[in-house]
Amino acid sequence: MAAAATPGRIALHTEVKHPCIEHKLTLLRDERTDHKQFRELTREITQFVAYEALRNLPTAPVEVQTPLAVATGRTIAADVVVVPILRAGVGMLDGILALVPNARVGYVGLYRDPDTKKPVEYYRKLPDVRPDSFYVLIDPMLATGGTTVATLDLLRDHGVQQVIVVCLVASPEGVATVEEAHPDVWIFAAVVDSHLDARKYIIPGLGDAGDRLFGTR
Ligand code: URA
Repeated sequence: MAAAATPGRIALHTEVKHPCIEHKLTLLRDERTDHKQFRELTREITQFVAYEALRNLPTAPVEVQTPLAVATGRTIAADVVVVPILRAGVGMLDGILALVPNARVGYVGLYRDPDTKKPVEYYRKLPDVRPDSFYVLIDPMLATGGTTVATLDLLRDHGVQQVIVVCLVASPEGVATVEEAHPDVWIFAAVVDSHLDARKYIIPGLGDAGDRLFGTR
């Protein structure tokens, strides 16, 4: 795992580095990968990144009776709420629910206004916030950061205290934008790529994640 280190600043994002992630990410980037395999890889990589992202979830002791004795185990003691940003975030949902099957799920839909380039909300359905709620915002591509910041603003308005961002590919520009607007929100990514191009696509990236997940153009 590698954490960003800006001199004089606490690191706020983590690139989850692992040979298995790098291998799958390479397949994910490959333009020859079809939507079926793209979906499977997205789910698998999400699971690896989320595994690290959820490392500090609180747990509470519980006793269970094994066939031989009483064992003291631990169960997750947080109300995990996963929020995919429509539509590409949905492709990550199964991967994270494989780790936290009891999680609740909220949905947020935003599109970028073609004139202002600003994110506009068109859908919101969020679970109530509880004292132990731990929100996980998921979106495969953290590009400009505009959508992520708008969603974090919206979650803060909703009363969310604890929230992290989990993505697959981030841009340095997007990470900086989110860190500037929400310095208390940690970002977990499989990789932080080189830069954004003029159309605000991540380079080298993987193209349009939504289209590649769902087979649309
Ligand atoms: N959204 C994508 O799907 N891909 C990018 O490169 C940037 C934003």
